Amino acid sequence: MAYENGNWRWDLFQNLLWWNILLRIAALKGSKASMNRDCVGWSQGKDNEFTIKSAYTIRIGGSPDLHDPIWKRIHHYRGIQRIKIFMWLACQGKLMSNDEMARRHFTSDTGCFVCTNGTETIDHVLMYCPPALAIWNDLIKNDKLHEFFNLDFRDWIGQNITTGAGFAKNQHDWDLLFVAIIWNLWCFLNSVVFYNEDMYNGSILNQSCHLAGIIQ
Ligand SMILES: [Zn+2]
Repeated sequence: MAYENGNWRWDLFQNLLWWNILLRIAALKGSKASMNRDCVGWSQGKDNEFTIKSAYTIRIGGSPDLHDPIWKRIHHYRGIQRIKIFMWLACQGKLMSNDEMARRHFTSDTGCFVCTNGTETIDHVLMYCPPALAIWNDLIKNDKLHEFFNLDFRDWIGQNITTGAGFAKNQHDWDLLFVAIIWNLWCFLNSVVFYNEDMYNGSILNQSCHLAGIIQ
C-alpha cells in the first residue's frame, strides 16, 4: 500500500474508501520497506481475514443468541419446512402482528384484529386470543394450564415441539398437532385481516388435526 519511502500508493485504494477516511490516512506515514509488509485487512476477522460471520455480527449489532436451545429444537423439528420457518420467525419476533407492524411504523393501531381486546402481539395471537384459548383449554391438562400459559414464548414453542412436554391430555404426536394449531391460528388471523372473512369452513382444531395427519 506504500512505496519504499513510506509514501502511500493512492492508486491502489483511493477509489475503495470514503474521502474522510482517505484524509485520515493522508495524515499518517505509510510503512517503509524495512517494516512488515502492509496490506488491506478486515479488522473484525481473525488474522485480518474477512468472514461473512463477522460482517453479519456487525450488521445485527452483536452476536446472535446461538446458544438458545430453541434454534436447535426448531432445526430438528420433524414437521415441514414452511412451518419450521414460521416458528423461526415467530421466535425471532419477526411475524407481522399489529404490534410488530406498529414498531416498524406501518400502522398506529396495535389492537388485535380478531378480538379487539388487547395488543396483537404474536404470543397474544397464538396463546391468549379467544380462538387460541378455546383450543388450548380443550386440549391441555387442567393441572398444566397455569404452567402452559405462563411460559416464556420461546420456551412455550420449544417445550411443545419436544416430545414429552406433558402438557396435552393426549400426548400422541402432540408436537405435530401443536404446530399445526399455531400455524392455523396464524393463517386464520391473516384470512380475517386480508380477506375480511373466516376462510375456515371447519374449526381451526379440525383443520389442524387434518394437517397434523398429513405431515406425520
Ligand atoms: Zn385477540
